[in-house]
Amino acid sequence: GVDPQTYGIGIKELWEVRPEVHQQGLTMHTVGWPVSSDVYGGSFLYHLENNQVAVGFVVGLDYSNPHLSPYEEFQRFKTHPEIRKFFEGGRRISYGARALNEGGYQSVPKLSFPGGLLIGDTAGFLNVPKVKGTHMAMKSGIEAAEALFAHLTAEGQTGHECLGYPERLKQSWLWDELHQVRNIRPSFRWGLWGGIAYSAIDTYLLKGKAPWTLRHHADHTQLKKASECTPIVYPKPDGKISFDRLSSVFISATNHAEEQPCHLRLKDASVPISTNLALYNAPETRYCPAGVYEIVEDPSGPRMQINAQNCLHCKTCDIKDPTQNIDWAVPEGGGGPNYPNM
Ligand code: SF4
Repeated sequence: GVDPQTYGIGIKELWEVRPEVHQQGLTMHTVGWPVSSDVYGGSFLYHLENNQVAVGFVVGLDYSNPHLSPYEEFQRFKTHPEIRKFFEGGRRISYGARALNEGGYQSVPKLSFPGGLLIGDTAGFLNVPKVKGTHMAMKSGIEAAEALFAHLTAEGQTGHECLGYPERLKQSWLWDELHQVRNIRPSFRWGLWGGIAYSAIDTYLLKGKAPWTLRHHADHTQLKKASECTPIVYPKPDGKISFDRLSSVFISATNHAEEQPCHLRLKDASVPISTNLALYNAPETRYCPAGVYEIVEDPSGPRMQINAQNCLHCKTCDIKDPTQNIDWAVPEGGGGPNYPNM
């Protein structure tokens, strides 16, 4: 009974930079470049302690051009003179990626099930315009704990004032905050400038109280055919500021136990070639930030090779595959990325 969840892929690196360019506490956010104005995308750059800087780029997974590569957009972003200056002479420490839930208020799922409650990011509690969800994770955790505690106390057992977890949330500031910003993310369907103009009106004039709610569409339905879209040529990585996928995966410390069944399951093994390659020019080779999906030319023709051991568990393939043919399953043995300080 709610809208489909909509996502962004966030790709992030941790750097150690030269002390002369480090300004502890400096926070930068950008929107737009290098993605084109029909794509929802932006960056974050945080100067942490010990000359470390976290930098990342988020691309809305409702993008339509299958030639787009979120990974390459991020690498290109770092080459902007205002960004590059921080990283020249620095050292990359770590790399990672994950999908962010951007659906907000319209996409909040049923929050309880037998034996469990959904809290924080699992429930999609992210204030997208503020790029902030930690406060909501904490608040929903508190409300969940208090709802459970009420049930376990005598007061709860006798039925006095024992509101369920979803009801408690709906009476809290968390729900009001999600409601207030609900139209910002979907307004970017009108492009960067349309989205900014609408967001200014919604935020400052209507103060989030518009009598309408803009709807979401599932991200995988938004991809257009490759032949209808302009190819994008990305610059080659220089190995100093921008890097290739495999050297990035290496510093994510990703590891999966050997000889386990592939945790990236295809419902139909022919679809990557017959549909994805034929119609969309194999978009999984670009949206996967770890180079897991590769088209290999065999004498009998092209085939899809899945390098599952490189998987960063971002779930983008499960979300964006145009025919929903990829099923991300939990790998054996607790394998996956092993991020230091990410
Ligand atoms: S295989 Fe899927 S989940 Fe793994 S890194 Fe690539 S896109 Fe992300």
